[in-house]
Amino acid sequence: MSTSTDHLVSIVVPVFNESQGLRDFHNSLVAILEEHVKGTYEIVYCNDGSTDDTYTVLEELAKHSHTIRVITLSRNFGKETATTAGIHAAHGKAIIMIDADGQHPVELIPEFIARWNAGSKVVVGVRTKNDQEGIVKHYGSKLFYWLFNRFTDMKLVPGVSDFQLIDASVQQEFRRLSEHNRITRGLIDWLGFPRDYIYFKAKARTAGEPTYSFRKLVKLAVDSIVSLSISPLYITAYIGAVILPLSLLLVLFMLVNFLLGDPFGVHATGGAYLIVLLLFLVSVVMVSQGIIGLYLSHIHTETQNRPLYVIDEAKSVRYS
Ligand code: UDP
Ligand code: MG
Repeated sequence: MSTSTDHLVSIVVPVFNESQGLRDFHNSLVAILEEHVKGTYEIVYCNDGSTDDTYTVLEELAKHSHTIRVITLSRNFGKETATTAGIHAAHGKAIIMIDADGQHPVELIPEFIARWNAGSKVVVGVRTKNDQEGIVKHYGSKLFYWLFNRFTDMKLVPGVSDFQLIDASVQQEFRRLSEHNRITRGLIDWLGFPRDYIYFKAKARTAGEPTYSFRKLVKLAVDSIVSLSISPLYITAYIGAVILPLSLLLVLFMLVNFLLGDPFGVHATGGAYLIVLLLFLVSVVMVSQGIIGLYLSHIHTETQNRPLYVIDEAKSVRYS
């Protein structure tokens, strides 16, 4: 398989407060690209409203190279939106998304290109193991995949990362997706197209702290399920369908027991039954209210119809 190409290849990198390790990442990326990408390549850095001197580093890198472009968002929009902005801006025939923290091995880029040359429109990097992953994150992601695959019509392979390649034809379709609550890999999955998988072991971060807090990850997981599936809406309906006949039986039993003068010796006070039943029903209503609220909030953000992101042109480096 050919690991090089004559076509323009875009590398899209979302960056948020990565100034510490950014130069090293960039150098290793360029080394691989210079060696393997015969045609031209461009690196699109999407600076997601960094508050450290990430932009200064990017500006300096761009000064010495014609292959770098920088898009700075006016504030932190989150990785998924930053990646989207980068994909939108990419000019390549193939577009590769990669994290800036060194966790995605740049050495695999030629392999991504080889699979693309072989006809895959989407090449997905799958993480096999993460040495640094904490126990909460490990089981958290297991739970997420279980929930996602149960509640949506799509099948996410566990460990699917944001280290992916998409063909320009997929990018074109990707542009048509306008939702705000987005998870890039879920959307690419939804788009379909022939795909291939590359397995890799995630490395440790080269510098800095993971910028995804536990809270952000939980939000990402909840958002991706809600934005891609409506089946959580049915959960309460299912629970209701189970409770309804049971409660009817209970009422019937109590009625018969009462009419026959307590032959079963239950001695149950009506109040006891009522309280238990009431508590349960109230909790069901609360859960369903919560779920409806989630969906409403999504409808709310979608109908606002705001632009997905805002670019700070003064801090962006376009082609000269
Ligand atoms: N990132 C971003 N915006 C954010 C958070 C992260 O652009 O709000 C970038 C970050 O700079 C890195 C990539 O997304 O290049 C992955 O971030 P991180 O390593 O924090 O996440 P994880 O490895 O846990 O997925
Ligand atoms: Mg990371």
